[in-house]
Amino acid sequence: MTTRRKFLIGAGAGLAALGTRKFSLAQSRDLPQGSGVGLQLIDEIVPPGAQPAGTPVVVSTWNHGTAANEAAWNVLADGGRALDAVETGVRVTEADPSISSVGYGGFPDRDGHVTLDSCLMDEHGNAGAVAFLQDIKHPVSVARAVMEKTPHVMLAGEGARRFAVEQGFPTEDLLTDSSRREWKKWSAEKHYTPWSQQSNPANHDTISQLALDRHGNLSGACTTSGLAFKMHGRVGDSPIIGAALYVDNDIGAACATGVGEEVMKTVGSFLIVELMRQGMSPNAACREAVERIVQKNPDWRNIQVGYLALDRAGNVGSYAIQPNFQYALRNGDRTELTNVADRAAADH
Ligand code: ASP
Repeated sequence: MTTRRKFLIGAGAGLAALGTRKFSLAQSRDLPQGSGVGLQLIDEIVPPGAQPAGTPVVVSTWNHGTAANEAAWNVLADGGRALDAVETGVRVTEADPSISSVGYGGFPDRDGHVTLDSCLMDEHGNAGAVAFLQDIKHPVSVARAVMEKTPHVMLAGEGARRFAVEQGFPTEDLLTDSSRREWKKWSAEKHYTPWSQQSNPANHDTISQLALDRHGNLSGACTTSGLAFKMHGRVGDSPIIGAALYVDNDIGAACATGVGEEVMKTVGSFLIVELMRQGMSPNAACREAVERIVQKNPDWRNIQVGYLALDRAGNVGSYAIQPNFQYALRNGDRTELTNVADRAAADH
């Protein structure tokens, strides 16, 4: 059930640094400001998903997140670690050939190559990532191996592939008949407008997943084949820690989907976690991160970005630039898909 809550935030040094419009999207109103110490009353909607501490929850981008959540939930319900849950969860999406934006069956780049980006982050702040990886069905597990078995955070391209093979990951052709057909159709015109979701709505549907386990620990993962028919060599936000994913176990976690270039330029997920650190709810923080993109892009109506955040108490928030973004939630009581509020609607 959706409820409302109000809380006071003192405008100390950290908040003051954010400027005066920081809570403009959180239905805030200024209280009388005495002796130079600003206080703001935040009147916000507490989204569904809020639950008692210690109760596991998993959330994912898009409706295909429902199946990924189920797999992750099996790990969480057994008392497993959030990191294991998110790796297990998004592997379901990576292996599903019907999802044309992730892993096996993902749409290729403009030259017909399926190239994958992925990252994950755990409760200790450890992170692993792979970018521009080819021929390996489960980039998230390679990202985990980078995190756990190398002194590095990210491996890319041929080096990432070679590392994966050394680690025992099988190589396989990730281009399915169906994605090859779509690429051939696209090749007939080569209409290259990857940023426009209006001209190409199937362009982006990355899975990003965040989980809170029974021990109160957070982790997240993100995996994608990137924008359909992108330039060969293009890497998006999905393997970039701080852009498509960020986890701080003391605060919360955030993740992204959509036009990666905009997420990278605003370091969206890191921003959201930092705004939560300043006292914003997950919802308000996602809205503010969307607003940063809108302000910098006069053509924002042609750009889709959706953010999803989970704080350490299990509160969930989400916001998108355009309509049609959904997130999937699974906890002990329910499985649900939520239509996310969007900036385009708020503008009318
Ligand atoms: N964020 C991804 C990228 O830019 C696309 C997506 O969300 O599907 O590569």
